[in-house]
Amino acid sequence: MNLASEIKTYFPKELLELLRHTSNEASKLGQRVYLVGGIVRDLLLGYPNFDLDLVTEGDAVELANRIARISGARLVIHPRFSTAKIKSGDFAIDIATARSETYARPGALPAVTPSSIEKDLFRRDFSINAMAISLTTEHYGQLLDPHHGKDDLHSHLIRILHPDSFSDDATRILRAIRYEQRLGFNLEHETARLLKRHIPMLDTISGDRIRHELELIFREEHPERAIKRLGDLGALQRINHSLSGNEWLAGKFDDARRLGKPGELPALYFCLLAYPLNGEQINQLASRLNPSAKLTRALEDTARLKLHLPRLNEPSLKPSDICYFLHEYDPLAIKANIIAEDKPVIRHHLELFLSKLRYVKLSLNGEELQRLGIPAGKKLGEILEILHKAKLDGEVTTKDEEEKLARQLKP
Ligand code: ATP
Repeated sequence: MNLASEIKTYFPKELLELLRHTSNEASKLGQRVYLVGGIVRDLLLGYPNFDLDLVTEGDAVELANRIARISGARLVIHPRFSTAKIKSGDFAIDIATARSETYARPGALPAVTPSSIEKDLFRRDFSINAMAISLTTEHYGQLLDPHHGKDDLHSHLIRILHPDSFSDDATRILRAIRYEQRLGFNLEHETARLLKRHIPMLDTISGDRIRHELELIFREEHPERAIKRLGDLGALQRINHSLSGNEWLAGKFDDARRLGKPGELPALYFCLLAYPLNGEQINQLASRLNPSAKLTRALEDTARLKLHLPRLNEPSLKPSDICYFLHEYDPLAIKANIIAEDKPVIRHHLELFLSKLRYVKLSLNGEELQRLGIPAGKKLGEILEILHKAKLDGEVTTKDEEEKLARQLKP
């Protein structure tokens, strides 16, 4: 099957130009070069995706160097992996040398050796991700589909390439469910059987790799679907026995999309997933998944704040009480609690802090207070706090009023 005309209509002009340079330079080097992975799947499905992965049966860095020189694109080389990224305008193309992988033991990172496109496709996760399109001049547009991925796209099936796939690399359990739910596909019968059987193999995967796959799920449009399915399969519980995916969580993920900024959504989903956990369970989750210090703090604060929320269920609380109670909590943890909490008074107080109170600043600063005759030291700190609270509570509004109050408080 030849996809040259599909390529022409699918990619924007700028990318087509880069692909033309790629074909020409590969020809000159005598290299065979291919589009691979998700981009081939999405092109066949007609879904937009401009995340291009290329594989060459030759030196990827040499090819990338030539493409960058001839097209004026920027080049980033990763010598450790012999891969390169070409960046032009809004687009980026990753180029790697075709490789095969062998697993010394389940869950280990594979040993990698340069090889052919066929072996490179065989190391991949699912048939729909194991297709390639030749960009080599004389075969331009030709589809390579040794594992019948195109048929599986038509039949809406996620299929592994060999029976050891999930035990070699159990992150594929999470990946399978991510694609199943994103595309609305089904697990092929044998794939489903092996996936369920190999769920315990998740224990062989490092925390960083599991977390990375969860983060990929959290970047999906509807991550709650994959999370629920992983919960139903018992895979979430295998990662941490306190985790579960249920209708409550699905509803809260939906709310998170309305309340969270796009960049913070993955971390917010993480906090919501961990919401039902207590402090001790959060510690266990963090030691399994090894999250960044920032995410760990958000998770811990989510649990700590949840415990103290009843203090905010008092309609007569002053803004200064709310502010001085909440200012030590991570804003993401506060957002997670707004989403998870049902009591209107508590929600209102949390929202008030995030939208307004945390930005309230005094017009006077410490130096100006000293000029009014208040010496530096503990007392000055106390006066600043009294002024700040007065401002939060609307007792002073202008700089003059702050000064007047400061003079009254002067020792
Ligand atoms: P998308 O999420 O749209 O599929 P993508 O296809 O670029 O994006 P990545 O996670 O970046 O997905 O992986 C790129 C390709 O590498 C995949 O299409 C797949 O062929 C292969 N791949 C990634 N992870 C694995 C894995 N654990 N085992 C085997 N192949 C993998």
